[in-house]
Amino acid sequence: MTLSLPVVWSERHRLHEPGGEIWVGVRTPGTEVPERAERIRAALSAAGARLVEASPHPDEALLAVHDAALLEYLARAWEDWQAAGLPDDPGQDRVVPYLFPHPGLFSGLAPAVPAATTAMAGLFAYDTMTLVGPGTWDAARGAADAALTAADLVVGGEPAAYACCRPPGHHAARTCFGGSCYLNNAAVAAQRLRSGLAGPVAVIDVDAHHGNGTQQIFYEDPEVLVGSVHVDPGTGWFPHFLGFERERGAGRGEGANRNVCVAPGTGDEGWTEAVAELARWAREAGAQALVVALGVDAAGGDPESPLDVSAAGFRAAGRALGELGLPTVLVQEGGYDLEAIGELVSEAVAGSEDGRRG
Ligand SMILES: [Zn+2]
Repeated sequence: MTLSLPVVWSERHRLHEPGGEIWVGVRTPGTEVPERAERIRAALSAAGARLVEASPHPDEALLAVHDAALLEYLARAWEDWQAAGLPDDPGQDRVVPYLFPHPGLFSGLAPAVPAATTAMAGLFAYDTMTLVGPGTWDAARGAADAALTAADLVVGGEPAAYACCRPPGHHAARTCFGGSCYLNNAAVAAQRLRSGLAGPVAVIDVDAHHGNGTQQIFYEDPEVLVGSVHVDPGTGWFPHFLGFERERGAGRGEGANRNVCVAPGTGDEGWTEAVAELARWAREAGAQALVVALGVDAAGGDPESPLDVSAAGFRAAGRALGELGLPTVLVQEGGYDLEAIGELVSEAVAGSEDGRRG
C-alpha cells in the first residue's frame, strides 16, 4: 500500500496536554492524548504518504464558522486563568467551568458577560471534559491551519488531502466548545472548499459520535450538506441531546442535514452501509466537493464507543466515499485505541484512494 495523497501535519498539536478530563466531577486520565497524532503520522509515513507542514492562516478563515467572542476567549483563557491565580488557589491547573448559563434562567434575556474569570469558562464551554491548558490555543490553531492547508491543496488541484488534526473539531459549534474540541476543523475546511470551488460542499462525518458542532454551524445553510453516521444518542451516548434523525436542517437549510443513527454493536456491514447511504445522499444533493470528518472511534477496540467496526470496515467506508470522485479533504476527528489508530486511519485513507481509482 502506497498512499499518494499529501498528509498535512502540525507539530503544534504536542502543545495541547489536556491533563485528563473532569467527568461526572471526577478527574479521569482522558483519551485525547498527544500520542494519537504521533501514531497516525507514523502509520501514514510508513505507508509512503508525503508529509506537508501546515501553513499559518489568518483569523478570517476561522471567523467564517466561529463567533469572534469564542476565538478571543480561547486565545486568552489560559493566561486569564493563570493571572487570576487559580492554579494556586484553589489549585486547578486547567481551565474548567463551574457554572453554565442554562437557557431556563433567562426569560429570553441575554446572559451577562461575567466579571469573574471562573464564570467566563461556562459562557463558552458546554461541558467539563474539555480542559484548556497552556498550549491548547496554539494547538487548536495548528489543527485548523492543517485543515485549511489541506483544503488549499485541494482547491489548488490535488484530488484529495488528509489533515492530521489534533485536537479534533466536530463537537465545536459557532459560539461554544466541548467534546474535546475547540475549533471546528472540518467546518473551516468546508468553508475553504466552498469559497475556492463551485457548488455545494458535503461534510460526511463517520466519527462514532454525532458531529453536533458541524451540524450547528451549517444548520440553516443549503450550500453545506452535513451528514453524520454515529451511535444512536438515544441509547445513552454523547452528545446525548442532539444527533437524532429528526434533525434535518432549518430555514433555507431544511433537508441539508442528515443524521443516520446506528445501534450499539452494529459492526462492519450495517455501519459501512450507513456510510454508503450518506455518500449516495450527498451525490443526489449535488455535492461538488467533500470533507470527510474521519473519526475512527467506531472501531471494535475503541474505549469511547460501542460500535464494532474493523479495519476492513474502515477500508470499505473509505472506498464508498472515494467512489464519489469529488475533490476531498479528510480531516482527523476522534479515535482513541492507540494500538490500532494508525492502521485504522491508513485503511480508511487507502480505501478512499481505492475508490477514487475505481
Ligand atoms: Zn468520537
